[in-house]
Amino acid sequence: MRIAVLALQGAFVEHEQMFHRLGVETMEIRQLRDFLQPFDGLVLPGGESTVMMRLLNDLLLLEPLRRRIEGGMPVFGTCAGLILLDSAHLGTMDIRAHRNAYGRQLGSFRGQGKVLHVGDDVPMTFIRAPYIEDAGAGVEILAEYGGHKVAARQLNQMVTAFHPELDGDTRIHELFLNHCQAGIME
Ligand code: GLN
Repeated sequence: MRIAVLALQGAFVEHEQMFHRLGVETMEIRQLRDFLQPFDGLVLPGGESTVMMRLLNDLLLLEPLRRRIEGGMPVFGTCAGLILLDSAHLGTMDIRAHRNAYGRQLGSFRGQGKVLHVGDDVPMTFIRAPYIEDAGAGVEILAEYGGHKVAARQLNQMVTAFHPELDGDTRIHELFLNHCQAGIME
């Protein structure tokens, strides 16, 4: 099993370290030819979604990425990665993200909560995070925090508004790896 991490900008190294702790090999997607290598799942990390969108566009990575996801490649988006998958960006997932939803000053905080298929007391680190404002009928909400939807999945796509790669808890990454092994998420 090998997981590709979009490595243009943001918190990609932390995802790689998480997978290495779980004994899973990773590779980085930085340019078009990286898509030629085989991989079983793809991570879109946190960072700045406007910058990532611009880089994806400039590097001609946007369409290949969309095609991969539409073709069923398991994908896990955290924070800015969640925004990239929403209807206003790549549009592969039937969600609408509210960016910087907690305001710029109080935008970063930690909590914990229950995540469906994962368990209780999952650490949730929010950094100028979005939440999911709207989700279509095909989207399964996995977690809420403070009354807002903060984790979800839809077939091969899974998102968290928080940053599980920044905490010691590996359970969310393990859930994603299960999806990568099984193909479609169910
Ligand atoms: N605020 C960022 C954005 O809008 C997301 C922040 C993050 O990924 N930690 O893209």
